[in-house]
Amino acid sequence: ANANSGAPTIFDKIIAKEIPSSIVYEDDKVLAFRDINPQAPVHVLVIPKFRDGLTELRKAELRHVEILGQLLHAAKIVAEIEGILDGFRVVINNGPAACQSVYHLHLHVLGGRQMKWPAG
Ligand code: 5GP
Repeated sequence: ANANSGAPTIFDKIIAKEIPSSIVYEDDKVLAFRDINPQAPVHVLVIPKFRDGLTELRKAELRHVEILGQLLHAAKIVAEIEGILDGFRVVINNGPAACQSVYHLHLHVLGGRQMKWPAG
């Protein structure tokens, strides 16, 4: 398996910049860009550039611990950039029953409005 094993998704094209996205933050390991169908005034997706089998959190293994930490840290940086440090939500949908639609691990960073619990 190569570093991106798992079926290709639209996010591979976004990483390769073959399709455009509104990038909020990028470093060598992670990319953060605005969700095309925002559910809040701020709705940013944070993804690993190298999926390495990490199609979803439930597939995470010990070798993914470092990138998982980097993704969470990038979520905080995104919240800082977007000015929502006073209140924001980080969501990971896992599997069909949670409405995961893209099988390349991604964190949703949501904010800029009052969030409800557990959904909405
Ligand atoms: P999931 O439902 O898998 O947790 O979230 C996938 C998210 O990716 C959805 O919120 C959807 O709006 C977003 N998305 C799907 N395709 C694209 C795209 O081509 N560009 C961007 N920016 N977001 C996308």
